[in-house]
Amino acid sequence: MIRIGIIGGGISGLTAAFTLEDHRRAGAVEYTLYESSPNLGGVLRTEHIQGCIVEAGPDSFITEKPWAADLCRTLGIRDQLIGSNDVARKTYILVSGRLIPMPDGLMFMVPTKILPTGLSPLFSWTTKLRMAQELFHPARAAQADESVASLIERHYGKEMVDRLADPLLSGVYGGEAANLSVRAVLPRFAEMERTHGSLGRAMLAARKKTPRPANQPAPPLFTSLKNGMQQLVETLVPRLNPSSLVTNAPVQSIQPEAGGWTISAGLKSDHFDAVILAVPTHAAAKILSLCRPELSAELAAIDYSSSITIGLGYDRQVRESLPPGFGFLVPRSEHKRLLAATFVHNKFPHRAPDDRALLRCFFAGSTAENIWQLSDDAIIAVVRNELQQILGLDSEPLFARVYKWKSAMAQYCVGHLERLDRIERLRQQLPKLALAGNGYRGIGVPDCIRSGTNAAEQVLTR
Ligand SMILES: Cc1cc2nc3c(=O)[nH]c(=O)nc-3n(C[C@H](O)[C@H](O)[C@H](O)COP(=O)(O)OP(=O)(O)OC[C@H]3O[C@@H](n4cnc5c(N)ncnc54)[C@H](O)[C@@H]3O)c2cc1C
Repeated sequence: MIRIGIIGGGISGLTAAFTLEDHRRAGAVEYTLYESSPNLGGVLRTEHIQGCIVEAGPDSFITEKPWAADLCRTLGIRDQLIGSNDVARKTYILVSGRLIPMPDGLMFMVPTKILPTGLSPLFSWTTKLRMAQELFHPARAAQADESVASLIERHYGKEMVDRLADPLLSGVYGGEAANLSVRAVLPRFAEMERTHGSLGRAMLAARKKTPRPANQPAPPLFTSLKNGMQQLVETLVPRLNPSSLVTNAPVQSIQPEAGGWTISAGLKSDHFDAVILAVPTHAAAKILSLCRPELSAELAAIDYSSSITIGLGYDRQVRESLPPGFGFLVPRSEHKRLLAATFVHNKFPHRAPDDRALLRCFFAGSTAENIWQLSDDAIIAVVRNELQQILGLDSEPLFARVYKWKSAMAQYCVGHLERLDRIERLRQQLPKLALAGNGYRGIGVPDCIRSGTNAAEQVLTR
C-alpha cells in the first residue's frame, strides 16, 4: 500500500485524487488531500443570482484542449457540456474610445483574410502595410526565448502588440505581452517562424493541411457546463473518498524522511511515501523553503498576477441596448483600468434569463492591485464609471458581485521553460514528489486537469 499526500484542493489536486481513486478502491493506495480553505475547487466557483449563472473564476475552457471535456465524460456529465454561442461571436477592441470589431479571419492574432483586415478601422495603414510585408518574412530559428511582444512587433509592428496581442493575452494570463515568453505561451508561433518565416503563410498552410470535412460544423471555441464551472467540482468531489479530504488544513512544510515525506499541517504531521504539490508555485515555494531552498527559490521566481472579476446583472432594456457579440477588450494605451468585459448573455445565452443582461468584467495585474484595497462598493463604482465611458451604460445594476483572486494566475515570463528544466532536475533528486497546477505548462482548466492526472501517474509509476 502506497501512502500519497496531495496538497491543494483546486481542480489540479482534485483531479490527482480522482486518478488515485481506483487504486485506492483496489487497496493499492491510500491518499490524503489537504486544502487550506474551507472549500474544495480552488478558483472554480459559481453563484446563482436572480436566475443568472455568475462565474467567480473561470467561465469556460478552450474546446481544442480535450482534458476538461474528457474528465466530464468520465464523470458521466457529458450531457451537461455546452458550447459557446459562436454564431454571435464578435469581440470588440476599444480604440480611441470607440469599440471596433475584430475583423474576420484573424487566427488568434494572425491575419489570414486580406479583405476584412484591409477594410477594418482597427489598424492604421502602416500596420496594414506591415501585414502585407509579413507574408515575405524570412524563416528564422531564434536562438533564445523572447517576449510575445517582441515577436509580434518584429512581424507586424507596435500597434499590433498594443491593439491585439497585449489585450488578448491579458484576458488569458492577466499579464503583459512584453513579459510573457513566446516559447511557453505561444510555442506554435516560434515554430511557425522557424519553418515558414511568415506567421500568416504558416497559418494558411496549416489550414490547408487539415481542412475541415464539408458539412461538419466547427466545434465551439469555448466549452462550459450547464450549471457553471462549479458543477465539475460538485460532480467530482462525491466520487472521492470523503475521509481522504481534509479542508481548513494549510500545509506549512514538508520534510524528506525515511524515503518519503512528512507533511506538517497545523499541529499534526503525517508520513507519506509520495507527495503531490498541487498549489500555486509561490505556495509550493513556501512549503519547500526549509528543506529544499534551491528548488523553493526557482518556484518562487515564477510570477503570479492577481485579478478581480465583477458580475453585473441588468434588465431587458440594457440587454437590448448593448452591442451584439461576446464583449470587448481594452488595450493599455486607452488608459482605462478595465481589461475586458464579457456579454455573458450572448456568449452562453442560457446563463441569463431572456429579460436580463449579464456582464462579467475583468481587472488584472497592476490595475487589480491598484483597486485591491477598495471596498466592493467602491470597486463596483469604478467598473460602472468605465462602463459608462465605454458603453454609455448609466443604468443601476440589479445585482453586482466582486470576486478577488490574489496571485492566482501564473505568468510564464521569458525563460520560463529553462526554469522548468532546472525545477525538474532538482525534483528528480528528491523522494517521490510531483508538481501540478497552473504554474508549469498551461494555465487553463484543461491544462491543470492534465497536470493533476500526470502528477498522480508519476507518483504511482516512479
Ligand atoms: C479570475 C480567473 C479567471 C480564469 N478564467 C479561466 C477561463 O475562463 N478558462 C480557463 O481555462 N482557465 C481560467 N482561469 C485559470 C484556471 O481557472 C486556473 O489556472 C485553474 O483553475 C487553477 O487550478 P489549480 O488547482 O491549479 O489552482 P487553484 O484553483 O489556485 O487551487 C489551489 C488550491 O490550493 C490551496 N492551497 C494553497 N496553499 C495551500 C497550502 N499551503 N496547503 C493546503 N492548500 C493550499 C488553495 O486554497 C487552493 O484551493 C482563470 C483563473 C482566474 C483566477
